[in-house]
Amino acid sequence: MKATRIAYSAQLNAGKYAALVRQARRLGRVRGEVWQRYGSIDGVGSGLKDRQIRDQWLAENTHAQFGVLANAWKETVRDAVTDIAANLAAAKVQARRAVGRRTADPDERKRLFTALKTDKWTGDPFLARQMRKHWKRGKNRTHDQIVVRADQHNSKLDARGRLWLAVPGLERRKTVKIPLSTTVAPAGTLRLILRGGRVEVHYQIDAAEMRTSQRPCGDRTLGVDKGYTEALTDSDGKHHGTSLGELLTGESDRLKERNRRRAKLRSIANSAAQRGDHAKAARIKVNNLGTGKRDRQATRHQARVRTEIFTAAHRVVDKAATVVAEDLTKSFAGRKPLGKNTNRRLAAWTKGVTAEALANVSERRGSALVHVNAAYTSQACHRCGRLGRRSGDRLHCTLCRVVWQADVNAAINILQRAGDPDIALHTPHHAVKQILQERTDRHRTRLPVQDPSPTPAGRRANYPNCSAMSD
Ligand SMILES: [Zn+2]
Repeated sequence: MKATRIAYSAQLNAGKYAALVRQARRLGRVRGEVWQRYGSIDGVGSGLKDRQIRDQWLAENTHAQFGVLANAWKETVRDAVTDIAANLAAAKVQARRAVGRRTADPDERKRLFTALKTDKWTGDPFLARQMRKHWKRGKNRTHDQIVVRADQHNSKLDARGRLWLAVPGLERRKTVKIPLSTTVAPAGTLRLILRGGRVEVHYQIDAAEMRTSQRPCGDRTLGVDKGYTEALTDSDGKHHGTSLGELLTGESDRLKERNRRRAKLRSIANSAAQRGDHAKAARIKVNNLGTGKRDRQATRHQARVRTEIFTAAHRVVDKAATVVAEDLTKSFAGRKPLGKNTNRRLAAWTKGVTAEALANVSERRGSALVHVNAAYTSQACHRCGRLGRRSGDRLHCTLCRVVWQADVNAAINILQRAGDPDIALHTPHHAVKQILQERTDRHRTRLPVQDPSPTPAGRRANYPNCSAMSD
């Protein structure tokens, strides 16, 4: 398993940075050409490989127009083909679902799945229609990256202990030497991303070498519920990643305020341009509407959120040999209402990071990650299965007459789903609801007649778990 590491340039001079930007822009045109010519059904969609594209370009002399070195454009072609293939794979997931809905015949399903997998789907009208529907033709938007093959770079420490990374420039045998802020030399294929005057060097390392991968996992089985205020809640009732909500709300508020200010400045610049004051318009554009600072802040925020979520996943794996979690290939829509002040885009991204953290940390530390069907786990009482009434972070079960802490209740439900004989991973939503209702009915017939006027002591007994379950 691989993990991505990032090294940053330190005090890189402007001339070198400009030279790298020039190279990245030219390589952006290479990417554009690949997307334009092969980003569709007849290209990568039909199983075309980057090597064939390279041969074609060499034969046609296509590469000459870009003005970059051979290794640079070849690596870029490979990278762009990988991007297109990822795009295609996402569409295939949708097409597979459509196949599942279309037929229950195992032979027919197998035939269609195989056709998809081997890129032979153009011949089948149903598959071709599905793929056309879900595979939107993309377009290259990457103009700030340089991919450097493992044997094309090297790094050296100078006399003062500073590490310099040498990568190919636009001319043969002329490298660009980038000073780095780390003393750990990047290895393997590098992706240089140029942002705001700084170079980010992205590379992959073997995750087994990471310090956190050496820590053993726990020995228990725990359910976890993913959240927005806290990254994870486990079935012991413990919350992990408790600063997540604050981080996300803060960022959402900051973005709103910043976008408001930028819109105002943009309108000032526009009216200046209309008046003919182009100098003022240009000044505002350069000084107030740039993207350098904005992008740096976004990168920093994302890094903070990732750290919070990954730390939470580590805390869970500290205790667990088996982590039971919601299956993330299904959509989250409607599972938890998002407040009106929360940024939906941020929330969706966060869920993705949480899924990635659980999978990544489990694999590295040797715990098992079990995915279960999470339908109604946030609404059903974990004791009797009845769908309760939610108010804020509390869940009232009118049958057990208990108030649960909603996320802890959900985590326990998720844990129980792992051993549930009736509810499998892909049991449809409505079937889950029916199963839960049948269980509740059985449960109810076994209950003794309840006291119609609860005493004060009885009322307190409605909240037995509140103090025990919150930390
Ligand atoms: Zn109940």
